[in-house]
Amino acid sequence: KKFVYDFTEGNKELKDLLGGKGANLAEMTNLGLPVPPGFTITTEACKVYLESGEEPAALRDEVSAHLDALEAKMGKKLGQADNPLLVSVRSGAKFSMPGMMDTVLNIGLSDKSVQGLAKQAGDDRFAWDSYRRLIQMFGKTVLGVDGELFEDALDAAKAAKKVTVDTELEAADLKRLVTKFKKIVKTEAGRDFPQDPREQMDLAIEAVFNSWNTDRAKLYRRQERIPGDLGTAVNVCSMVFGNLGPDSGTGVAFTRDPASGHQGVYGDYLQNAQGEDVVAGIRNTVPLAELESIDKTSYDQLMQIMATLENHYKDLCDIEFTIERGQLWMLQTRVGKRTAGAAFRIATQLVDQGLIDEAEALQRVNGAQLAQLMFPKFDEEAKVEQVGRGIAASPGAAVGKAVFDSYTAVKWSRSGEKVILVRRETNPDDLDGMIAAEGILTSRGGKTSHAAVVARGMGKTCVCGAEELEVDTKRRRMTVPGGHVVEEGDVISIDGSSGKVYLGEVPVVPSPVVEYFEGRMHAGAQDADELVEAVHRIMAFADRKRRLRVRANADNAEDAMRARRFGAQGIGLCRTEHMFLGDRRELVERLILADTEAERQESLKALLPMQKQDFVELFSAMDGLPVTIRLLDPPLHEFLPDITELSVRVALAESRQEPHENELRLLQAVHRLHEQNPMLGLRGVRLGLVIPGLFTMQVRAIAEAAAERKNAKGDPRAEIMIPLVGTVQELEIVREEADQVIAEVEAATGVKLKLSIGTMIELPRAALTAGQIAEAAEFFSFGTNDLTQTVWGFSRDDVEASFFTAYLEKGIFGVSPFETIDKDGVGSLVRAAAKAGRETRPDLKLGVCGEHGGDPESVHFFHEVGLDYVSCSPFRIPVARLEAGRAAS
Ligand code: ADP
Ligand code: MG
Ligand code: MG
Repeated sequence: KKFVYDFTEGNKELKDLLGGKGANLAEMTNLGLPVPPGFTITTEACKVYLESGEEPAALRDEVSAHLDALEAKMGKKLGQADNPLLVSVRSGAKFSMPGMMDTVLNIGLSDKSVQGLAKQAGDDRFAWDSYRRLIQMFGKTVLGVDGELFEDALDAAKAAKKVTVDTELEAADLKRLVTKFKKIVKTEAGRDFPQDPREQMDLAIEAVFNSWNTDRAKLYRRQERIPGDLGTAVNVCSMVFGNLGPDSGTGVAFTRDPASGHQGVYGDYLQNAQGEDVVAGIRNTVPLAELESIDKTSYDQLMQIMATLENHYKDLCDIEFTIERGQLWMLQTRVGKRTAGAAFRIATQLVDQGLIDEAEALQRVNGAQLAQLMFPKFDEEAKVEQVGRGIAASPGAAVGKAVFDSYTAVKWSRSGEKVILVRRETNPDDLDGMIAAEGILTSRGGKTSHAAVVARGMGKTCVCGAEELEVDTKRRRMTVPGGHVVEEGDVISIDGSSGKVYLGEVPVVPSPVVEYFEGRMHAGAQDADELVEAVHRIMAFADRKRRLRVRANADNAEDAMRARRFGAQGIGLCRTEHMFLGDRRELVERLILADTEAERQESLKALLPMQKQDFVELFSAMDGLPVTIRLLDPPLHEFLPDITELSVRVALAESRQEPHENELRLLQAVHRLHEQNPMLGLRGVRLGLVIPGLFTMQVRAIAEAAAERKNAKGDPRAEIMIPLVGTVQELEIVREEADQVIAEVEAATGVKLKLSIGTMIELPRAALTAGQIAEAAEFFSFGTNDLTQTVWGFSRDDVEASFFTAYLEKGIFGVSPFETIDKDGVGSLVRAAAKAGRETRPDLKLGVCGEHGGDPESVHFFHEVGLDYVSCSPFRIPVARLEAGRAAS
């Protein structure tokens, strides 16, 4: 195996092997750009070293051979006393990890060769400056000496001389500093600074290998989801010197503005300095444009090279360069990082320049960036008083009066107040309040707590687990660190992108991208700014490319309209349980408590017209587009009062000898319906089979609503979806009853209805018997939330608090399987069920509803397994459209 590549041997496609830096140095070399010669040691060599603790046997000889060739090319020998070749030893992994890994400059200097370098350059000061830099960098990164000791010594030298910048130190000062630095190395590292140049180089190479596994590098990789086993390449690059006086210098540049995408001259330049001085902020840099007046020839050459690079990489590049006595050298380039907004602008600009096509433009942006552009933000200029920080659970910026219970949240928001719902943690009872609130703040729970999951689903701002806040819901107040008390009605502001909590009102700037999706701003209109224009065009590219259709999870006409504006092509999930809350809860309670058939019929009869009205509104909002309605799913106890609260009420009434018949009856019902594992209990289709008349009432409401819309010349396209089916028999029974009801409605109204009936696939058994189930289902909708829950045996409501954090930390998953679909496990069931279903019924419609439908990575998976559509919350629709387009191009 070959472990070392000369810069002339590689190219930009070899990032896996040569790392990003090495691959691009090779690419630039082969483009004929001025790159100091050198070679790259592969990531393979690093992997061998990290696995076995030893460098591969062949490496030393290969390095020697490449070093010989380099020395021959340069006409000098590494560290040679009279005419030394110096090199840098630079890390460079496949993915850039800024500031995480090590680089050592000026390798090859020693007590002897420093003299040679001085003579060669005709500059003593420069030689000693380079030497002290070597000992400093080598001491710190290779020998593990605390860098501050060197910094302190440097400061002391400057202070002794009464100067402020290091360029004012003279050769003699630097020479003394070298002596001092060597002493520091000796005491701290317990060894002398190595005088043998080859030993310096070998130790530096080993240090770069080892820097792959420092704590900070590991942490960075985990955050950025970079695999831990890639290893780093090592670049050995002959030195060029920016610290050779005022006609030398070093700088960084971008081929266009990484914030706006505009073309122009962006970057910084520092005269008489070596590379790392620019980032370290040792002296003030000047804007790159000023290089034109400092060194016009180099400036012009740099501009030309930048144009070459952009045309070649067809993207924004960032660059490191050094000028040595008027000679320009390129030291690094890569496709540059950019803001989310710039990503969209640059992609469309490059299309206009004819550098890339639409499909490629779609690869230059992603759903996460689009999502980022869709959140309102707090005004950065505003003065703020931060009082706490929790987990950034669902992004956005929300301001409102603090309220501590859902009832108040709903009441106040109805009267036009903006409220923030503050709870210790939320539960399904808080749903109304969460819908009414601008944002949700909890002091308990993590990223997959109820509050977080539901808020994300609704696209609502949420900060959770802000533990410093003491929430007292009984007294309707919270105490913040320092003792200040926030009472009900006090205004607070929460930032769901940073997790920060502020007192008072922080001004918010709305997202222009959302204004555009909402139709309040038109791309192409005069006020449309470049960003909106770019988003508009990219979305058009995506819509043209994608095969997956995108539907919305929406339960009411308002959400449905919004979803339509955002580009939804129907409703993939209308949850009917939300329709049973609020004022109607009492009716549901009566249904559950009914002792006689007559009582039950009465409550169902009362519910029917309300349900029907819900559907009429929904069908007209989604006229001409499919609307999938899921029959009642959650366990009934969710519609009844809390068991403890009720027990207390009954006990109190008893002790006061007050009448409490109703409460007692209620309590008995709650006890009767109480389940240890409600998620695995009496819910979904099981309810439909056990509570007579419930599902048929819902089906009747759907059918009558559809008939009414048809009579009004509408085009309702209802799909009836049965939840939690495990076997085809369940579905067959429900289906038979439903068909009968539909026939009755058709007969009574004289309207021919084309209602389709299908099921959710959300239990492993359903997935495993999908071929049978498809006999009774016209469509499948994969309920990947429950499917994840049941396949893993995880309770979604509990696992976050108990062990998910540990799992994430230990790397058992990189991301929660509730956020991104677990392709190997849950995903393979989806794949197999889709296939089996279509074998039985070739025209079976396949979709997915639930959190994963709006998750970028999952959307790609659903595209790949051949589903027809994904369904997600209205706010995530643009992201799903974009990712579906990306998946197809
Ligand atoms: P990083 O990945 O942290 O940017 P680099 O390997 O690019 O680390 O090096 C750090 C600094 O040293 C950069 O400013 C780079 O331009 C400079 N540098 C690296 N190699 C050389 C060299 N052979 N000659 C001159 N400067 C160099
Ligand atoms: Mg660099
Ligand atoms: Mg479900």
